[in-house]
Amino acid sequence: MKIAQDTVVFIDYILNDGDGNLLEKSDREENFAYLHGYGQLPTKLEEALEGKEAGARVQVSLSPEEGFGDRDEKQIISVPRDRFPEDEEIVNGLQVEAETDHGHQVFTIIDIQDNTVTLDGNHPYAGVDLDFDVTVAQVRAATEEELDHGHVHTGDHHH
Ligand SMILES: [Zn+2]
Repeated sequence: MKIAQDTVVFIDYILNDGDGNLLEKSDREENFAYLHGYGQLPTKLEEALEGKEAGARVQVSLSPEEGFGDRDEKQIISVPRDRFPEDEEIVNGLQVEAETDHGHQVFTIIDIQDNTVTLDGNHPYAGVDLDFDVTVAQVRAATEEELDHGHVHTGDHHH
């Protein structure tokens, strides 16, 4: 089966930055799965995968604009330390979730002072060149329920 709108695609992938440093890779035990045609992957990557079948290998390089955007220094904010729960361990690199004017957002803690914590709301890959090396493992039609929910149902994810 070829990858097309409304197919569920299982892939193995390796993601490097533009300098060849490994950013992440899929778990060999369990392929990464996504619903094709809904912007769950960067557009250029989905376009490269369109029409491919199991076994195909696709290598795509994305500029920050094609990936997760440029870094925006306005996304770096300081908040009072006491905004965090007393018992929450605060360490550099920890990701925290918050509701903002723009909706749900993930922040990364980048600096901790006595009374303030500095958070970076940029996507971790903002401003980064991305090299995807993808192998298609499996393609199947999405079920009605998956299309209804807008995500893939696999073994441990079904709701
Ligand atoms: Zn669901």
